[in-house]
Amino acid sequence: MIEKVDVKCGFLCNNRCLFCVQGNKRTQIGDIPTPDIIQTLEKARSEAYSVVLTGGEVTIKPDFLKLVSKAWELGFEHIQIQTNGRMFAIDDFCDKTIRAGANDFSLALHGHTPALHDYLTQSNGAFYQTVKGIKNLKKRGQRVGLNIVVNRSNYRHLPSIAALAVRLRVDQYQFAFVHALGTAGENFARIVPRYTLIEPYVKKGLLIGILAGKSVMTEAIPYCMMSGYYPYVAERIIPKTKIYDVGVIDDYTAYRVNEGKLKGEHCTTCRFDAVCEGPWREYSQRYGFYEFRPVPNPA
Ligand code: SF4
Repeated sequence: MIEKVDVKCGFLCNNRCLFCVQGNKRTQIGDIPTPDIIQTLEKARSEAYSVVLTGGEVTIKPDFLKLVSKAWELGFEHIQIQTNGRMFAIDDFCDKTIRAGANDFSLALHGHTPALHDYLTQSNGAFYQTVKGIKNLKKRGQRVGLNIVVNRSNYRHLPSIAALAVRLRVDQYQFAFVHALGTAGENFARIVPRYTLIEPYVKKGLLIGILAGKSVMTEAIPYCMMSGYYPYVAERIIPKTKIYDVGVIDDYTAYRVNEGKLKGEHCTTCRFDAVCEGPWREYSQRYGFYEFRPVPNPA
């Protein structure tokens, strides 16, 4: 049984993130016509009660509010908007989106300062708009989560980004290790850090949220890098998701395990072998497996 459907609504975006996994879909595919998305939503509704509207940047679509309303009319109980959050800097846009039926917001924030976030998104003013968007949504009582993509430029600042997330009163944040596909793959050397370098900063960043009573998670960080923080590995609890992209991925968990990630031979001796997905395939193909040390069973 699927728990969630993730619907890509087009690949246009007002950011130009250095680590975007969509790569050339922006130019090769661009927008997806609204009638096609509505057709997908109608089909998806028979499969799940929870939908994520995403892109690209879904909020810049002229028919964005129409799509949210359609998802609500179809009876989706959980309607999440996955977004860079910039459009939510506009009060009226927040009100209209909430009135249309959206009830969960996942925003992308990759730095604790304008210099860092705007550099990573290659968009001047993006930090101020996203932060204002978070404040606007929280002011209206909405559930807000943050997705923070861990990369070479921001990993040392993860504790500061976490502290900002707490100050902004977000409900949840997650550190997602960059996936070297699309633009991130083209910029590999500039973008992808070593797991062993990020580990202490990830843990400090998690601790800040834990102490503040926030829900915190990591994504695509194997258990052997998470000693003392095993319960925060998101893959343990990611719901079974179907993705409507250019093609359809029926089971994203199976896709991640079988195609997205790659483990080493020695992983078979690790106590987490049965539940660990390992690092992204592109990472281990480039950097190898030497950092990943099997975790022994407790004595
Ligand atoms: S199974 Fe492999 S990648 Fe996963 S935690 Fe163990 S050693 Fe690390």
